[in-house]
Amino acid sequence: MDTEEELIDLLGRIKTQLLTGKEIGLDTPPLSPHSLNYLREGLRLNREPLGESFNCKTLEELEHFVNGCDKCRLSKERKNIVFGEGPPNARLVFVGEAPGMDEDLTGKPFVGQAGKLLTDIIKAMGLTRDQVYICNIIKCHPPRNRDPERDEIEMCLPFLEAQLSLIQPEIICAIGRISAQSLVREDFKITRERGQWQSFRGIPLMPTYHPAYLLRYPQAKKAVWEDMQQIMKRLGLKDPREFKN
Ligand code: URA
Repeated sequence: MDTEEELIDLLGRIKTQLLTGKEIGLDTPPLSPHSLNYLREGLRLNREPLGESFNCKTLEELEHFVNGCDKCRLSKERKNIVFGEGPPNARLVFVGEAPGMDEDLTGKPFVGQAGKLLTDIIKAMGLTRDQVYICNIIKCHPPRNRDPERDEIEMCLPFLEAQLSLIQPEIICAIGRISAQSLVREDFKITRERGQWQSFRGIPLMPTYHPAYLLRYPQAKKAVWEDMQQIMKRLGLKDPREFKN
């Protein structure tokens, strides 16, 4: 671990301690405005500005704005826009690929089989679904679950950028090839490069396998768990399995 990583790891742990203390009713020690800002918004090192916010000041306003979108062909066949869900100040944002059929029907992200596995992964991290933000690269279901087309991603990505600029997460987890290719590099190789820290507009990003892939290749679960452990470390979260011993 280099010095910067050590510092980030340490700050993550201190932040978790302070937030846990606050949750159980302990007074936070007197902190400088700078430190309070860090507690509220996370560490921002060399953040690049995210895209336009469409003049929306909250996620609700943005969701309302996105709900009327008819910019691409997917708007014709969708039942619901799947905007995303989670707390507006989530420290961790999971970004999947695109809503599937279950998500199209319910308007909620990751509620099908792959979603159940994602929920289990989040629980194994010692978190609950409502402590993290979950969304996708594109907001509408592509017919027959085909991969999103390039122009669909290009048209939808500004909405995700606006979402991220409102949430200001400490970490993004890019779930699967399409997500990593959209947020990191077009030629990103998920099998070779997962598990290695990247960044999106200055926000640390961890690329990992998609839970749909894990349903087909359960042997890849170990790799995903290693990636989640890196995220937990950076957020200062203890492996819940350690408590059992
Ligand atoms: N797969 C995704 O990438 N996103 C969802 O919301 C559901 C399945």
